[in-house]
Amino acid sequence: MSDIWKIYGIRYTVQPTRPASKTFIWGDPEEETGGLDYYSWVLTSNDRAIVVDTGAGERKVKSAPGRNWLAPPTDALKQLGVDPAHVEDVILSHAHWDHVGDLGAFPKARFYMNDLEMESITGPDMTYHLLREPYHGDETAQIAGLVYEDRLTFLSGDGTFAPGIDYTLIGGHSAGQLALTVNTERGPVVLATDAIHFWQEVEQERAFIVFHDLRKMLAGYRKLNRMVGGDLGRLLPGHDPLVKSRYPVVATHADGSPFILDLGAAPISW
Ligand SMILES: [Zn+2]
Repeated sequence: MSDIWKIYGIRYTVQPTRPASKTFIWGDPEEETGGLDYYSWVLTSNDRAIVVDTGAGERKVKSAPGRNWLAPPTDALKQLGVDPAHVEDVILSHAHWDHVGDLGAFPKARFYMNDLEMESITGPDMTYHLLREPYHGDETAQIAGLVYEDRLTFLSGDGTFAPGIDYTLIGGHSAGQLALTVNTERGPVVLATDAIHFWQEVEQERAFIVFHDLRKMLAGYRKLNRMVGGDLGRLLPGHDPLVKSRYPVVATHADGSPFILDLGAAPISW
């Protein structure tokens, strides 16, 4: 029997406003999307904790225009009883800057990333300014360094990460963008991370403005929809500001806004 996992979303940064023209291909500059929320995630089962993306580094967010740093994702881990110093597994869904900061907070961890992602961020793809833009060279160097420390395992294609956790190569948004299918108390839930940023990408096939391969990104939207049998309450996007109102809040920031969300639970509103 497959293990049952909790999925916690850790909302560590917010971009309060963002026009559709800077969010979707052919987006209207007059349309406001409601902004972006930035997440790290942790999967827990019994005494095991698997971190999915570490979030951005604080310094990186503070130098990114229009983003407000709320709190370090590691603070949320501690509130959940997870000591970052003892975490053994960190899955990197892809290597964009807002997902791979603060890797040093996990000194004992083994990291996992798709092999095509590594090929992309260390090869000719990065000679194109547009493809390079969402990555930071210092973080790519850190990830490459993990290989030399024998702390990076490459995930190729699709497979099982642990009982109750499967990974699927989606690509599109980035060359090696992964999605995770997690067995929860309500059955399988797909943590898409940035394979979709907003639910409307799947609902309307509305293309996000940052991508490695447009066709693969669009095909990924359909594939993810098939993976959840059309039940978008089982599909968790990476940045949608609606996430924080659709799932139960476990902990809040000092300003009262959601910090930790229980994403393995059923949506509380839709
Ligand atoms: Zn992201």
